[in-house]
Parts: sequence; structure tokens; C-alpha cells
Amino acid sequence: MSHYIAQPCVGVKDIACVAVCPVDCIHELPEDKRGGFPDMLYIDPDECIDCGVCIDECPVTAIFPEEDLPEEWENFIKINTDMAAAAS
Ligand code: SF4
Repeated sequence: MSHYIAQPCVGVKDIACVAVCPVDCIHELPEDKRGGFPDMLYIDPDECIDCGVCIDECPVTAIFPEEDLPEEWENFIKINTDMAAAAS
């Protein structure tokens, strides 16, 4: 299980969440790897420990645990996962 970043982050990319994540699993793709992805931060689902600390830090309520992800944003599970894969 992981937390995921969804639509509200697009175009915002406030980095308050990055500072509080205890395992440093919230990232921005380097510029040369951003093609085809939304302009947002992503969570690496293989690294996230589901602590939930980042949720309240986000000023636009973009971060959700998988079970609370609004249905219309379920595609962001794949987007976060694909962004993490693109980074490696
Ligand atoms: Fe990092 Fe915890 Fe947020 Fe996962 S839930 S991205 S480990 S702060």
C-alpha cells in the first residue's frame, strides 16, 4: 500500500510534503523525464511506508492513502507508479 498524489498537485508542486516525508519518497521528475506526465510531484509507491504525515502538509489536499483516493482520481495510482519507474 502507498499514498498517492492526485490532480490538485498539478501545476502547484508545493514542496512542503517533501520536507516531512521520513523516507524521502516524494519527488519531482528531472526535466528531461517529464514528457507525457502531468506537471506534479509523485510518491514512489515502493518506498512509501503509509505513515500519512504528508497529508496535512499539502496546501491543496492532493495526497491520499489508496483507500481514500477519490474515484475520479484513481488513474493517479498508475501516474505515480509510472513516474517513479521513469525516474529510475
Ligand atoms: Fe512519505 Fe509517509 Fe507520505 Fe508515504 S505517507 S509519502 S512515507 S510522508
